[in-house]
Amino acid sequence: MNFEICERFMSVSGEAPFAGDPVYIIRFSGCNLDCSYCDTPYREEINEILTFDELSSIIFSQIKDYPNLKILFTGGEPLLKKRASGIYELIKLYPDVVFIIETNGSQKIDFGADNAVFVCDIKTPSSLAGDSFDENNINLLQRKDCIKFVAAGEDLPWILEKIKNIRNKNKNVRIYFSPQWGKINLQEIVDFILSNRLDASISIQIHKIIWQADKRGV
Ligand code: SF4
Repeated sequence: MNFEICERFMSVSGEAPFAGDPVYIIRFSGCNLDCSYCDTPYREEINEILTFDELSSIIFSQIKDYPNLKILFTGGEPLLKKRASGIYELIKLYPDVVFIIETNGSQKIDFGADNAVFVCDIKTPSSLAGDSFDENNINLLQRKDCIKFVAAGEDLPWILEKIKNIRNKNKNVRIYFSPQWGKINLQEIVDFILSNRLDASISIQIHKIIWQADKRGV
């Protein structure tokens, strides 16, 4: 199997559940959605094609002398059918390493590895990619995993109904509001969470605070 790679680099995780933690980021090329708020407009770029063994060696070379370094798979969409089985295989090769997989959840997720943490971005109406999430994934998400809503102000009523629905099926998974950059006041989100007594948290994209909002490779 070959993996199409957009970019890879060392950084800190930008968002919950590991915001600020050192991570080696591998951004896979290509996505099946086209969200209005996508902050990786270059997601279709293929800048490297790696075999399974080459990608595995790169992961090994990163983790071998950096204790507890996490590997973050993002995109694009990492779990596209053409590479999902290879990704699950890689995760199982390194059971002592935490892999964070940022996914749009449109594909059925394989929850077979304890060291995989899935961060599922459920698309809101303002994304213009709504209803893309595979609902079968909801029951299976664990406490280590999380659901993220990238929220604009107009999405809040929709998110509230969605959270009620999710909590009927899954009381454990963590839920985060990730504010759409410049599209919602942060206090509005906090007020919304507390006034609706939601078991949910706010997550700020810290790399947009540390670096410029549109800086690449950080
Ligand atoms: S799913 Fe993610 S990578 Fe794909 S278009 Fe939407 S925001 Fe961008």
